[in-house]
Amino acid sequence: MDLKKILREVPDFPKEGIVFYDITTILQSPEGLRAAIDQIQDKLQDLDFDYIVGPESRGFIFGVPVAYNMNKGFLPVRKAGKLPYETKSKEYALEYGTATIEMHIDAIQPGSKVVIIDDLLATGGTSKATIELIEELGGEVVQLVYLIELGFLDGRGKLEGYQVDAIMQK
Ligand code: IMP
Repeated sequence: MDLKKILREVPDFPKEGIVFYDITTILQSPEGLRAAIDQIQDKLQDLDFDYIVGPESRGFIFGVPVAYNMNKGFLPVRKAGKLPYETKSKEYALEYGTATIEMHIDAIQPGSKVVIIDDLLATGGTSKATIELIEELGGEVVQLVYLIELGFLDGRGKLEGYQVDAIMQK
């Protein structure tokens, strides 16, 4: 199934001049949802790894079904203040201001191999911060898989040295 055909593009959201790629039109289609998860999973078929990490919140939507299907654990990366136990935090730059993401300090055993799954790669800032967090907790990032990559923002450049895959290019 060609997921590009059912991905909705919303102009001027969240502000003028930005085209927002809206995955809800994929999620609402039974065939689309299945194809998205299957196609992400196909990228990991021969890989040896322990955990899938998904950044809040769309990373949860695609990360959990793949982890379930492949019999792996799922580790959520959340915005600051949401995780109840002791956390490690990472602050990173946004276009305006900063954001902070967190993981539980005992989420990863040192030496664990980790895959990051998210809906969309834009500048790569979220992913880079997520990689740093995982590595500081002792994990090794073995692959990153996205449903959509905005090539013109060169997020891949920020993730040099890592295996990056995307289902759709925009
Ligand atoms: P980055 O940190 O600049 O790579 O931005 C990626 C993050 O922003 C991802 O977690 C996406 O969910 C979100 N994001 C940025 N642009 C879009 C979009 O057009 N559609 C959906 N999510 C987006």
